[in-house]
Amino acid sequence: ELTVESLHLNYGTNPVLKGVSMQLKKGEVVTLLGPSGSGKTTLLRAVAGLEAPCQGRIIIGDRMVYDGNTNQEIPVEERNLGLVFQSYALWPHMTIFDNIAYPLKLRKTPTAEMKQRVQAVLDQLGLGHLSQRYPHQLSGGQQQRVAIGRGLVYNPPVLLLDEPLSNLDAKLREEARVFLRSLIVDLGLSALMVTHDQNEAMAISDRILLLNNGVIEQQGTPQEMYSTPTTLFSAEFMGSNN
Ligand code: ATP
Repeated sequence: ELTVESLHLNYGTNPVLKGVSMQLKKGEVVTLLGPSGSGKTTLLRAVAGLEAPCQGRIIIGDRMVYDGNTNQEIPVEERNLGLVFQSYALWPHMTIFDNIAYPLKLRKTPTAEMKQRVQAVLDQLGLGHLSQRYPHQLSGGQQQRVAIGRGLVYNPPVLLLDEPLSNLDAKLREEARVFLRSLIVDLGLSALMVTHDQNEAMAISDRILLLNNGVIEQQGTPQEMYSTPTTLFSAEFMGSNN
């Protein structure tokens, strides 16, 4: 579904991604794990088309969306991705229904089809009874579900999530992990998710990519990462409780 090859990205003269290669297969949940400043968010934003790399390639489905050789880039709205951010970024003046409908409106989906699709997502997320409320009238956990609903409402094959659970308190976060994973699996989506929390990565992922200072230090299943770290950094990071 998604392939990144030898991606380089600089902020000014500061190299932040230094040759990252990765794959996300259909139906997989992959997390980008690593300490603050390792480049997780930057990689996710580059895949989304929100940051410009300077070298490498990004392929989504069968489309090359970034080619460093020709410097050709397909813009974010044509990459057919579902995006879920840490801050949820819900529109405060729009109802829950309208927030979730927004990506469909942008794509000029016919009204009847739009209503049907939004209703289906609301039901899937257990938010049907809240559709006419506004974001500030919802709990943090409910707001987070709305953000996920908006991310997947137009059936994108790939969902990108940047620390989607980090604003929730610890207990809610554990429930939300289970919910999010089963939702992604049930819908047959592929997901790339940023987190700095190794317990969260262990619980939610099929595969973990551990980033360190702009490179992938190690990748593997949660079990492999935990039981067979190949570097001291991996051992320390996977074993720690930060
Ligand atoms: P965190 O968990 O703290 O979000 P991260 O692993 O997601 O960390 P990034 O946000 O990708 O890290 O940042 C990687 C590096 O790039 C950091 O050193 C950061 O200071 C720098 N950086 C991020 N965004 C910008 C920007 N817009 N302009 C300049 N430098 C940036």
